[in-house]
Amino acid sequence: SAAAATDLEKLQVLGHGNGGTVYKVRQKRSGVAYALKVVHGDSDPTVRRQIFREMEILRRTDSPYIVHCHGILDESCGDIAILMEYMDAGTLDSLLKTNGTLSETSLSNIARQVLNGLTYLHTHKIIHRDIKPSNLLVNHNMEVKISDFGVSKIMYRTLDPCNSYVGTCAYMSPERFDPDSHGGNYNGYAGDIWSLGLTMLELYMGHFPLMPPGQRPDWATLMCAICFGEPPSLPEGVSEEFRSFIECCLQKDSTKRWTASQLLSHPFVCSDAKSQK
Ligand code: ATP
Ligand code: MG
Repeated sequence: SAAAATDLEKLQVLGHGNGGTVYKVRQKRSGVAYALKVVHGDSDPTVRRQIFREMEILRRTDSPYIVHCHGILDESCGDIAILMEYMDAGTLDSLLKTNGTLSETSLSNIARQVLNGLTYLHTHKIIHRDIKPSNLLVNHNMEVKISDFGVSKIMYRTLDPCNSYVGTCAYMSPERFDPDSHGGNYNGYAGDIWSLGLTMLELYMGHFPLMPPGQRPDWATLMCAICFGEPPSLPEGVSEEFRSFIECCLQKDSTKRWTASQLLSHPFVCSDAKSQK
């Protein structure tokens, strides 16, 4: 294991997730800072299942676009903790709240990194299922990494009928609500792309795009907006590349939505295409 619990000093709380707490810690011997996600031994089975899921996925992944796991601490008291790289600029959600909305240039850089992460995950048959600003971590180099795999799914078969309601329903794609999409044409990977599209819109506009600013939606209103409304789109005055990128992500028909690897060559994120103009 990368670090013994005894060599770690808790510095501060970084955030509370559902059931767990994330601390900033320092390894005494090296002085290096890490993030430590702790789930207590007496927490409920759902919470424990989620941390085991997250451990399983972090153990399998090795990408500069996915938060790096340095080790697992399994304490005798039953507490479980994941030691992760510390992302010193917080999440895209906190960045939005402190610095305000992001420019197209920043969003292009963010989208490229998230798409590299999603391409990696989808190639390894992992669906994240909870892509949103607060699950995308940032550091001072503006490196963006996908985190929080508590509700992710590993696809052991190509088509999987499992289409359960997990994740934050606000960012869920239309087909996730559709009972007819069980099995058959259900393409779980496309759900992550819808969530990415909503995330990019939110970071540009400064509020959750399916609801007017400041409004806290109830579940039914939200579901109606996702399933029966037009997909949200950008306001006037943005580049054609950005508008098209969002449209490719927010196709309601999941079979028409672009895949992560296709989007990597979209002019909005592909620097080659941009510099040729
Ligand atoms: P949320 O509902 O906000 O997504 P959660 O239950 O999903 O919470 P996490 O996302 O894993 O839990 O972590 C909670 C918070 O802790 C994050 O929103 C972030 O602010 C902080 N955090 C998590 N991991 C790290 C890290 N590696 N570096 C820095 N901060 C982190
Ligand atoms: Mg989270």
